[in-house]
Amino acid sequence: MTPRGWALLTLAGLTIALVVVAALFIPWHRPPAPRADQLAALRDLPAEQVAKGREFRAALRPGGYTALAVGLLVALALGLTPLGSRLVELVGRPFGGHWAAQAVLGGLAVMLVADLVTLPFAAWRQSVLTRYGLSTNGWSGWAVDLLKSYAVSAVIGAVALVGFYAVIRFAPRWWWAFGAAGAALLVVLLSFVLPVLVEPVFNKFTPMEQGPLRAELMSMAARDGVPVRDVLVADASRRTRAVNAYVSGLGPTRRVVVYDTLLREATPAEVTAVVAHELGHAKDSDVTVGTLTGALGAAAAVVALYLLGSWAPLLRLAGVDSVAQPRAFPLLLALVTVAGLVAAPVQALMSRRVEARADAHALALTRDPQAFESMQRRLGSVNLGDPDPPRWEYLYSASHPSTVERMAAARAYAREAGR
Ligand SMILES: [Zn+2]
Repeated sequence: MTPRGWALLTLAGLTIALVVVAALFIPWHRPPAPRADQLAALRDLPAEQVAKGREFRAALRPGGYTALAVGLLVALALGLTPLGSRLVELVGRPFGGHWAAQAVLGGLAVMLVADLVTLPFAAWRQSVLTRYGLSTNGWSGWAVDLLKSYAVSAVIGAVALVGFYAVIRFAPRWWWAFGAAGAALLVVLLSFVLPVLVEPVFNKFTPMEQGPLRAELMSMAARDGVPVRDVLVADASRRTRAVNAYVSGLGPTRRVVVYDTLLREATPAEVTAVVAHELGHAKDSDVTVGTLTGALGAAAAVVALYLLGSWAPLLRLAGVDSVAQPRAFPLLLALVTVAGLVAAPVQALMSRRVEARADAHALALTRDPQAFESMQRRLGSVNLGDPDPPRWEYLYSASHPSTVERMAAARAYAREAGR
């Protein structure tokens, strides 16, 4: 069999593995609370809060979607015309067109162009956040954050680019196989190291101070059978008023993080409800499953790019002879951008199901639907969320059930449990 035949077979295998993992580990059968209950929850929210959340989300929308469209158009312009390959050549020229210079500097230059065209929209978003009082870091803090995130992307991008094109040189016929394995490994590695290497670039993390709340959270974790070494507090207040919590990392790097804003704004019972939700993610290994699907998806993407990349019309458009050249990187980036936009609603759906399961876990663990509901109200009001967002936007991008869905779920739990 030819390498191409093997690649087709591998892609089929990876696709089946992805479907099996998703079928086994994503809780698909989790119907949302009845719409009537959601509407009842919506009516119970202060009209002013609902209006303000909707106004804020509407203010973000034009810039957000224009940025998406501009990002896509620029990626297509660079990848499906010779513009991008010329840029890679130009950047590599001072180094005699050496493959490594083209691969790393050329690749980073293309990524930088893609970032810079959406920069005005990012600035505009920051101005909206400031106007609505959600941002606390000012323009200098915002610029520092932006430069830091460029630097982090540049480091990770350079490692990935040099690795990818070195593999192509080392195994010109089978690079897709090594590339797929490397991409999967990189996803797993990043899941391990992001919490310890990257998150501290943006925030300071300190163990939650001793006291009754910390003791309650640790004993709840023990009761839940989820070993948690510590609850960490992130100094999120340096850039936002928004409240949040999350769980990240794998094995030894796993941690539950709460924003300092959450501790400041919410009652202890509400913080407990939030942490119970995060323990649900830990208990159901949501980070592990997310990493596994990410790794399989990345491997499948590399093989798919290899197969698509032998399609002559695409190469002709990009002005390259082979997808294996660093000059073809803009073409790869264009294909990945399109795939990302297409995959977004599927990822959002999977995320919403997983989040709904973590909510159910929080309710069962705390047996306090009132605190859960008031926590949802507070999240919605402080973060200026639309409690019941437009259907199309919800389907395309909502990573969490809506506020009214989550309130209705708490009420359904209370009804069933007789509380
Ligand atoms: Zn969650």
